[in-house]
Amino acid sequence: MRASNLYAPTLRNTPAEAEIVSHQLMYRAGLMRKSAGGMYNFLPLGWRTIRKIEGIIREEMDAAGGQEIMMPILQPSELWEESGRWAAYGAEMMRMKDRHGREFCMGPTHEEMITALVRDEVRSYKQLPVMLYQIQDKFRDERRPRFGLMRSREFIMKDLYSFDKDVEGMNESYQKMYDAYSRIFTRCGLEFRPVEADNGAIGGGHSHEFTVLAEAGESSIACCTKCEYAASDEKAELKAIVAEQEEMLPLEKVATPGTNTIEKLADFLNVPTAKTIKAIAYQTDKGELVLAFVRGDHEVNEVKLINLIEDAQELNMAEDEAINAAGGCPGFMSPIGIKEGIKVIVDHTVMHMYNAVTGANEVDAHYKNVTPERDFNKEAITVADIRMVAEGDACPKCGAPLTMSRGIEAGQVFTLGTKYSEAMGATFLDEAGKEQPLVMGCYGIGVGRTMAAAIEQHNDEDGIIWPRAIAPFEAVVAVVNAKKDDQLQYGEEIYAELKQEGIDVLLDDRKERAGVKFKDCDLIGYPLRVTIGPKAVEEGVIELKIRKTGEVITCSREEYLEKVREILKTL
Ligand code: ATP
Ligand code: MG
Repeated sequence: MRASNLYAPTLRNTPAEAEIVSHQLMYRAGLMRKSAGGMYNFLPLGWRTIRKIEGIIREEMDAAGGQEIMMPILQPSELWEESGRWAAYGAEMMRMKDRHGREFCMGPTHEEMITALVRDEVRSYKQLPVMLYQIQDKFRDERRPRFGLMRSREFIMKDLYSFDKDVEGMNESYQKMYDAYSRIFTRCGLEFRPVEADNGAIGGGHSHEFTVLAEAGESSIACCTKCEYAASDEKAELKAIVAEQEEMLPLEKVATPGTNTIEKLADFLNVPTAKTIKAIAYQTDKGELVLAFVRGDHEVNEVKLINLIEDAQELNMAEDEAINAAGGCPGFMSPIGIKEGIKVIVDHTVMHMYNAVTGANEVDAHYKNVTPERDFNKEAITVADIRMVAEGDACPKCGAPLTMSRGIEAGQVFTLGTKYSEAMGATFLDEAGKEQPLVMGCYGIGVGRTMAAAIEQHNDEDGIIWPRAIAPFEAVVAVVNAKKDDQLQYGEEIYAELKQEGIDVLLDDRKERAGVKFKDCDLIGYPLRVTIGPKAVEEGVIELKIRKTGEVITCSREEYLEKVREILKTL
């Protein structure tokens, strides 16, 4: 490919809407352009990277036993009715009707579709296991599409689904995918952590997210400073913190005017926030009131909370009327005195506190010397881990401190069990001739998000620094003055030689000033630049510049090829 023919419009300035570096650089380097909110066109350079990431994914999926298929993007509502997700999937699902009034959605994921596909054909355990995947556009009408390809509405996903005859088989498939994902992200040149994750709306058994470490990421992960434990902040398990034993003082109601926040309360009573108990009132999408209590300096983990409530898809802040009707008082809540039948969920750490402060369920009043073990009606409450992890919390495995990092969820693997196969009647006959539901897993990678993550991790003030495996071109031959025939001719020869070597190389033969070209090369981020200028023509001296280190190596015409091979191996 010649740069003179390449459609790669680079920009000197950053578009205002691009907040994070990957978004800015994808624009500036001419990799993509926006078409509508959360929807993008890929230009040739961007698409080359996408194709390379897809290539790596394909190789690893095939090596792990996957077979590539392609399913339609539009999915009939009937399939989603069968799984119950037509009603359960919220506004993120883009729905539409065809000319006959039949309802469809743009596939946000394909569990239903593939289960329907496989149930019609798989009859016997002898046909199992099966692993099928596709690489295709998904559509999710995200509440806040942002950060370019990181959170878009239409995005490319590789989704693989595994079907096994039993849980043991499912776990083997899961492990194969886990290992394949580790290889994929390693080959893409990314620093990542597989972390234990919540299953979210997909449901089923256990899950890992593959999180690429980057400050701009929307995920927060907790990693143990001593053992290998790592989990997303939503998932990170926490043991109860047992407070030092104190003499239990008698419960006492005190006037606390205007102290409707934990900070004001702690200030007023002159106690640390860790001696108070904080209440958050929620209402589920079905309207049920849920009162959550954590230690004053802790935060409620809404994912853990929702997992404890049957039949809830969403939690919203509760209306004051609902709190009052339950015997509570907004800003001054306590489990003591709440009406029977109201859902009260208390973090297990709270149950190990002594002489703490809670609201008194009336305006401007609190209880002092609350010892939950003694004062809460244990029959009426649920005690569980509902707290959000924070820096320094104890690792649930070894007790060492956890440290928090930010990252980008580039992929996720799930075991699904029989959730979809049972709902949709996808069965097979086992060895004994008995009908059994298929045991499933599903495994997704965001291709565009992986590309964005790579840029977040690999860039400097001049532009992108691609890992070689996913660079749009591995190397560029930059002709310093392409208006000079001898330089251009020399460049053509070098370009031909590198291509002959099997190197994915671009010839920058544009009749631009050298400065402009070099700036573009740095911005686009080709791993290696081979510079052909007067020195090459006159003295046979070729300059190699490594984008990552900025190192410049000069070599002779005879030795340059060996040197190029050597350098590329390290990038
Ligand atoms: P998130 O929590 O970031 O919304 P998710 O957990 O809903 O993502 P999955 O259903 O696990 O996403 O989808 C598999 C992969 O698809 C994700 O790991 C991610 O790489 C990618 N992906 C999901 N949503 C988007 C999006 N809006 N834009 C780009 N990629 C996405
Ligand atoms: Mg996910």
